[in-house]
Amino acid sequence: MAKFFLRKKAGDRVVNGHPWIFGNELGDSEGTAAAGDIVEVYSSNGSFVGKGYVNPASQIRIRLLTRDKSEVIDDGFFYKRIKEAWDYRKQLGYVENCRLIFGEADQLPALIIDKFNDYFVIQTLALGIDIWKGAIVAALQKIFSPKGIYERNDVPVRSLEGMEQIKGFLSDPFDTNIILNENGLRFHVDIENGQKTGYFLDQQDNRRAIQHVVKGANVLEVFCYTGTFSLHAAQYGAKSVLGLDISENAVSVARRNALLNGYEDICKFDAVNAFDVLKLWVKEGRRYDTVILDPPAFTKSRENIQKAITGYKEINLRAMKLIKPGGFLVTASCTNLVPPDMFLNIINMAAKDAKRTLRQVEWRTQASDHPILFNVPSTQYLKFLIVEVQ
Ligand code: SAH
Repeated sequence: MAKFFLRKKAGDRVVNGHPWIFGNELGDSEGTAAAGDIVEVYSSNGSFVGKGYVNPASQIRIRLLTRDKSEVIDDGFFYKRIKEAWDYRKQLGYVENCRLIFGEADQLPALIIDKFNDYFVIQTLALGIDIWKGAIVAALQKIFSPKGIYERNDVPVRSLEGMEQIKGFLSDPFDTNIILNENGLRFHVDIENGQKTGYFLDQQDNRRAIQHVVKGANVLEVFCYTGTFSLHAAQYGAKSVLGLDISENAVSVARRNALLNGYEDICKFDAVNAFDVLKLWVKEGRRYDTVILDPPAFTKSRENIQKAITGYKEINLRAMKLIKPGGFLVTASCTNLVPPDMFLNIINMAAKDAKRTLRQVEWRTQASDHPILFNVPSTQYLKFLIVEVQ
């Protein structure tokens, strides 16, 4: 097995628990390694750091899988890690649906597995994990005997690893339109053509958090995707709910979700560009009791961070203007590069411009089936805030 040595200065972050090693953090090496091979990593003074997979084509040259020198990376390793991750989710109360593997936070860098009751959706986002797909699928078969496993590797980030974008069955074919249960509601999920893995599990606990701010309310949900927050609002006693999304496909699933749960009279959905209608409706003087905002990530690169800040400020400012005094704003951000304090600052700036006072109801993050590893700051990405808008 090839050995790689960290440069003197570069080692701290890695030695302290971060699993990524960038090309410029590596010094000497011994032996040869092909893309995807398991290699050993040592600090500059020669002490063992960990074992992981290497990809010379990637800026993230090595991702560590273990810090235990005696642990062998084989099929059994993946079975053990996935089993441990499942036991952890069960301990935290996730029985039916969960993000079973959240990459780095489960010591399986670049692997995502979502469990939608008996169905599993996988993303292998680095070459060194992709080559273990067979072992990962075998482990899922053994632990869960699932009804289906599907690969949603149609994601651009794979090109950074020299891989193609693909999607398809990793088990016998099955009907990829499934239904899942969440908080007493039922939702259609389109595993093949839905966004990301088909459903946003990271908000599953936050959807319950809106319970006390939607009762008897006229609710506007912007960026509603398949209407998950809208249907929760209806279940918690909203008088009316309007959900908006730019995707016709998402809106049509949202309408079907309303029917599925018997809330078609309360929940209406429209396919529109949120930026346009928010602006217009502020001008028209429309008012809502509660506005929910859950936009997509506004940037993945640092160069565009200012654009993301402007985007968040704009939609939150407009949302505040649409809220009656004493109403509520439910607002989220999944942009990894916008840390929690920056997000709160943006909301604060928006409130100043809107000349409104905010009173905090809840300040949350992603559901705990997406664990936050303190040594890997990027594992915390979701910000979720509920405020009273006075
Ligand atoms: N709240 C949802 C997830 C929202 S994801 C849930 O919990 O399931 C963000 C959504 O914003 C996507 O469905 C995307 O189609 C939509 N979107 C992106 N740009 C938009 C725009 N300009 N106007 C309206 N919706 C937009």
